[in-house]
Amino acid sequence: LSHVSLFGLDLVSGTTAAVIHDLLHTTGRRRVAFLNAHCGNVMARDATYADALATADMILPDGIGIELAARFCGARFAENLNGTDFTPALLKAAAAKGLGVYLLGARPGVAEAAARQLCLSIPGLRIVGTRDGYDGMADEDAVIAAINAARPDILITALGVPMQDVWLARNAHRLDARITMGVGALLDFLAG
Ligand code: UDP
Repeated sequence: LSHVSLFGLDLVSGTTAAVIHDLLHTTGRRRVAFLNAHCGNVMARDATYADALATADMILPDGIGIELAARFCGARFAENLNGTDFTPALLKAAAAKGLGVYLLGARPGVAEAAARQLCLSIPGLRIVGTRDGYDGMADEDAVIAAINAARPDILITALGVPMQDVWLARNAHRLDARITMGVGALLDFLAG
């Protein structure tokens, strides 16, 4: 994988397949964030979010705005790695390896509905837990204990920008999941 520097961040340039391979076949914790044009705006005003991105292990270019910004700087991404396409592709590869996935976020009932849809479209996918992004979120210790008790390999957070990435950055050190990733409104989208 190579990198393109944008807004002072190193974004990954690689194909979906290469990034998934890197995530699933190398050891160590990976906190992944997607960056779209909206994120760039939020980052300029929110230092905590900017720090969460600066300390992420992997930032993926999401959408045409980021692609245009890179071209403006004379660079190009191998592929646009938007969360809507990338996340199901990652989960399909995760299912093939028997990895457990936890879905955190969105309104009550949405993560469960998204899990049902994902399991229909990805045979063998192992969702080990779901939880909405509102009820009890203030008790961070309890949320993290519940997630860790489900023993996920991959934690998907859908809490919106900037909350999802800030939440992951703040709690990364006590989350047991090897791969964590903020995906915006993806669970709403999947739930239909
Ligand atoms: N969300 C959540 N808890 C919150 C705020 C938002 O779970 O406290 C969820 C929301 O229900 C939605 C997702 O985060 O599923 C994305 O929210 P939004 O559309 O506001 O963010 P964006 O798509 O702009 O990142």
